[in-house]
Amino acid sequence: MQIPIGIDLGTTNSLIAGKIGDRIAVLPNAEGKLLTPSVVALLSGGDMLVGQQAIDWAERCPQDMVSSVKRSMGSLTKFALPHGELTPVTASAAILRKVIADAERYLATTISDVVITVPAYFNARQREDTANAADLAGLRVLRILNEPTAAALTFGLGNENPQTVVVWDLGGGTFDVSVLRIGYGVYQVLAVDGDQRLGGDDWDQAIAHWLRQSWEKTGVMSWPEPELAYRLRLVAEHSKRLLSEAPTVEMDIANLALPAVNELPSNCLVISRQQFQSLTAHLCERLVAPTERALRAAGLVPANVERVILAGGATRMPAVQELAMRLFGQPPDSSLHPDLVVATGAALQAAILVGGEQRYTLIDVVPFAVGIATEKGMFTQLIPANSPIPTQTSRIFTNARDDQGSVFIQVLQGEHPRAADNENLGYFELPIPPLPRGMARIEVSFELDASGILHISAQDLLEDLARQVEIVNVGKITAV
Ligand code: AMP
Repeated sequence: MQIPIGIDLGTTNSLIAGKIGDRIAVLPNAEGKLLTPSVVALLSGGDMLVGQQAIDWAERCPQDMVSSVKRSMGSLTKFALPHGELTPVTASAAILRKVIADAERYLATTISDVVITVPAYFNARQREDTANAADLAGLRVLRILNEPTAAALTFGLGNENPQTVVVWDLGGGTFDVSVLRIGYGVYQVLAVDGDQRLGGDDWDQAIAHWLRQSWEKTGVMSWPEPELAYRLRLVAEHSKRLLSEAPTVEMDIANLALPAVNELPSNCLVISRQQFQSLTAHLCERLVAPTERALRAAGLVPANVERVILAGGATRMPAVQELAMRLFGQPPDSSLHPDLVVATGAALQAAILVGGEQRYTLIDVVPFAVGIATEKGMFTQLIPANSPIPTQTSRIFTNARDDQGSVFIQVLQGEHPRAADNENLGYFELPIPPLPRGMARIEVSFELDASGILHISAQDLLEDLARQVEIVNVGKITAV
C-alpha cells in the first residue's frame, strides 16, 4: 500500500510528511533538513536549483532567484529572469518536484498521490493553480486542504475532548483564521477568514525599510541593487527571528550582515524588540478584524473559544502571542510545533483519504461566496461564504432576445455587492439554440469540490443536452 503523503507548500518553506505505519513523520530533505526553502533559481540552459542550493546560488546571483511565489498564485504574474521566465505555477512545480524527489529517496519508494495544503483564504483560482503545479510535477492531488484545518487535524490527534478552537496561521505570506468545533473524531470548520496580503514577509519589509534609512544616513559603502535590497531583506528577516528570543539585536551596518558572535562591529546598529514592535504594530493590528469576522460568522464570541492554536513560523513573534492573549483572554496553545503542524495534518488527511484511516471525519467550508455578475454590475451570490464543501447549486438561464446565439456569464468570488469589487474567476459563453425570447432553458450548475475548486456544467433542459464548462485560466472559461 502506498504511503499517505501530505505537502505543506509554504510561502517561505515547504515540508513533506508521510504516515509510516502508525506514525506521522515530517521527512528530511536531501540536505537533512525538515524545511526546504521555497526558493527557485533559474540557471542558463534552463536548469533549476531549489531550496538551500537556490539560496546559496543567490548569494552571488540574486537576480536568478525567485521566492515567495505563493503570493502570486492565481495571478498572471510572470517572473522575467536573466535565463528565462518562471510563473508561480512553474516555480511551485519545481519546489514540489524537489520535496517529492527527496522524500522518494528517503522512503525508497515512488510517490504519486498527495494532499497539498493552501491558505484557507485561497480562492478557487489560487487552488486551481496549486493543482496545476502538482500536475506539472507529475502528481495526483487527492485533496487541496486548508492549512489551518490541517493544523487542527494535528491538534485533534492528541485531544479527543469536544471543544471549540481557533487556529491562527501566520506564515511568510498569508494570514488565516479558522474557527472549528472538534471532538469524537469529527472536525467541523465553522468559519474561515484571513488576509491574503499579510505575512512574516511584511514584518521583514518593515525592518528592511528602517534599516535602509539608517544605512543611507551612515553612507558607509555603496551597494548596487538588487544586491542591496536582497541583503537588507536577509538581515531584516534574520533580525526578526532573533528578536523573538532576544531583547535587542546588533547589525553590522558596514557589511550589511549580522555580526559574528563575539565580534564587535565598528559600525553597529542596534534594534530593540520594543522598537521592532512599534515599527510593526500596524501589522499586528491587521490580525484583529479577520478574527472578529470569523467569530461573528461562526456565531461565537472570544469567550466561547476553548483553545487557540498557532501555526506558521511568524506566530513565534511575541507580539502575536500577546495579541492572542489580549483577544481571547488565554495564552495560545504552544504544544504543537508551528512549522510542522500543517504538513503533519496534511499527511493525516492523506491517510483518511487513501490509507484506510476511518477514525476521523472532516467538514470544511468555502472561504468566499461564489456567484455571477448580474444586471447593473451587481454580484449575485450562488454559494455563500462558509458553506460546507463539497457543495453545488444551479441556476436556469434564458435568452433575453429572439434567436440570441449565446449568453455571456462572468463568474466571481468574493463578498462585495458590486461585481467589479470581487475576484474574477473567469467568463464563459453559453451557446443558446435559436428560439423566441424567454424560451431557452439552460441550467448551469456550479459545484465546489472538497478542495474548493470550482466546476461548472450546463444542461440544455429543452434538448436534454449536457455540456461541460471548465475554467481554464484567468478571465477565460471554455466549453469542452
Ligand atoms: P511559514 O510560511 O510557516 O514557513 O512561516 C515563515 C515565516 O515565519 C517567515 O516570515 C519567517 O521569517 C517567520 N519565522 C520563522 N521563525 C520565526 C521566529 N523565530 N520569529 C519570527 N518569525 C519567524
